[in-house]
Amino acid sequence: MEHRPDHTAISAAVASLMPSARGELAELVAFRSVADPAQFPPAECRAAAEWVASALRAEGFQDVALLDTPDGTASVYGHLPGPEGAPTVLLYAHYDVQPPLDEAAWTSPPFELTERDGRWCGRGAADCKGGVMMHLLALRALRAAGGVPVSVKVIAEGSEEQGTGGLERYAEAHPELLAADAVVIGDTGNFRAGQPTVTAMLRGMVAVRVQVDTLEGNLHSGAFGGAAPDALAALVRMLGSLHDEDGSTTVDGLTGGGTWPGTAYPEKVFREDARVLDGVELIGSGSVADRVWARPSVTVLGIDCPAVVGATPSVQAGARALVSLRVPPGVDAGAAGTLLAEHLRSRAPWGARVSTDVVGEGQGFRADTASPAYASMASAMREAYDGTPMAVVGQGGSIPLTSTLAALYPDAEILLIGLSDPAAKIHAVDESVSPEELERMAVAEALFLSRYAATAAR
Ligand SMILES: [Zn+2]
Repeated sequence: MEHRPDHTAISAAVASLMPSARGELAELVAFRSVADPAQFPPAECRAAAEWVASALRAEGFQDVALLDTPDGTASVYGHLPGPEGAPTVLLYAHYDVQPPLDEAAWTSPPFELTERDGRWCGRGAADCKGGVMMHLLALRALRAAGGVPVSVKVIAEGSEEQGTGGLERYAEAHPELLAADAVVIGDTGNFRAGQPTVTAMLRGMVAVRVQVDTLEGNLHSGAFGGAAPDALAALVRMLGSLHDEDGSTTVDGLTGGGTWPGTAYPEKVFREDARVLDGVELIGSGSVADRVWARPSVTVLGIDCPAVVGATPSVQAGARALVSLRVPPGVDAGAAGTLLAEHLRSRAPWGARVSTDVVGEGQGFRADTASPAYASMASAMREAYDGTPMAVVGQGGSIPLTSTLAALYPDAEILLIGLSDPAAKIHAVDESVSPEELERMAVAEALFLSRYAATAAR
């Protein structure tokens, strides 16, 4: 693959910055920035935010500030004005992290960045403190190679993992703040290490809590079982109606035949990623990509009923479940939640009393992959990865800020990239980031900014 001069300069700059980047990522990972004051001191989040703010100031950013968001956390903002007439690109990451879960189960301490098997291990190394480093490296490389050719805004969120929506509400209340021509959300990852990937679709989600009541109180199953209406049995039947014979999700009124036009997700690879047991079939119909990115899926998240240990011979008077529904973009999450609640109520057997409430909702997102920013990213990734073409995938999870930004700035092109490849074990014990991926993704992002500036100038 022929390398243009800026590729050579940028690759060399990022390579020379990698040793210091490792030290910086270690500093960032050392902050226990879990945005849950019940478990971790808020001072840890504050210190991580200050770290990001001073890194931005060192890059020449202006108006650098810790924005106090309505959920009590802070997002770090900064603005780097570019050349006259240059487009504005917003770079997003978050500095808060998931809790480490069982600290003793980690192979090395979760808040000490440790090299193992060629990866850098630590909580947040990939999700998303590595994303912070990716943005910084890209900007530094551009500066070393002659200058940042676009105006850049950076926003680093402080409560993404909590889902408390502080930045979403702040952005809605300050609609000019994050306005940009293109947005790079640095919080997803490559489909495989070495396979540059942009995520162009996020499913929406909604959850419904369903309560079933049949009796005034529990009854002895010997004396009453066989005639007494069992609330747990009723609930099981209702939940069972949400999948058909092959496991496809079936919610009355919700269409399920969507197809995924982007990169395929081979069944063999999916089985490995999902660690499906030998002899057990996948559920649903259509290609794997259709099922996980283009069709609705229902998951029962929890059931309130007696645990096996300590269970007594009783017919249950009441039972409760929390049901999650993921929907492809284009399907309104709220309307889908209403359909799910109606479906459950209509399937209640034996006149059982049913109440439902919708307990959370986030809209999906779909990018226009024919846009100039996507073309620039495709060219940048191919070059940074020695000719490997960019994959376009969806993601079943949601990043609510993406939908907020898409609604606030309908003309902005939004691209999701990042360092959470399947080996990164984000949200789990032994999270890690690949330094090669950090290096190449930083090169890709820098090349993207350079290509995008040139496209937009034309
Ligand atoms: Zn994340």
